[in-house]
Amino acid sequence: MRLRNIPGADDAIEQSVYCVKEPETHKGYWQEAFETTQPLHIEIGMGKGRFIMDLAAANPDINYLGIERYSSVLLRALQKMEQNPLPNLRFICMDAADVADVFAPGEVDRIYLNFSDPWPKDRHAKRRLTSRQFFARYNEILAPDGRLEFKTDNQDLFTFSLEEIPAAGWRLDSFTRDLHHDPVLNEGNIMTEYEEKFSSLGNPICKLIASR
Ligand code: SAM
Repeated sequence: MRLRNIPGADDAIEQSVYCVKEPETHKGYWQEAFETTQPLHIEIGMGKGRFIMDLAAANPDINYLGIERYSSVLLRALQKMEQNPLPNLRFICMDAADVADVFAPGEVDRIYLNFSDPWPKDRHAKRRLTSRQFFARYNEILAPDGRLEFKTDNQDLFTFSLEEIPAAGWRLDSFTRDLHHDPVLNEGNIMTEYEEKFSSLGNPICKLIASR
């Protein structure tokens, strides 16, 4: 998702109390960015933030950080947050390739990836958020008993991701290629913007859960 460049988006993010600036200075101290010390879950590539906002509203006993690379996209989440502020949710505008500079070892309890960009060309495989290169970064920041959850409607990206998990030394805990008809994995499912859009077109939704 890349909205056209929106004038003022960078300034709005710079001034927003909901967006954490210079995130690397919080490494190891993320709990101080929130009112309450409690588990920390992050979504990487959150887009306009619908999923993580619904999740944060439903789980006030968890702190959430939404990560998005583009300020023009993140701006939409900030605007929603201004209408409905949540004390347990903050945003970061950054490239996920830098997560290990921003979180201390084991500081993150769960990672969500939803409808990540597929980067279909083989030569771009290492840019996929479920590549072994990204799993190596997640390995640095995820708590030993933490887990990663990934949803997509892209069958090729999902197959690639299933193969990357053992190659990265991770364990595949469960998966489905038809989430909305899987009574176990679909329980309590919160839809993302892309999930709503693509499932309404008839695309089955894939989901996997991985840990180490
Ligand atoms: N997760 C949302 C959903 O399911 O509706 C948005 C999906 S959209 C296809 C993917 C989002 O991930 C885009 O907003 C994109 O800018 C963001 N993204 C892709 N690569 C990223 C990276 N390396 N770091 C941070 N955000 C990234």
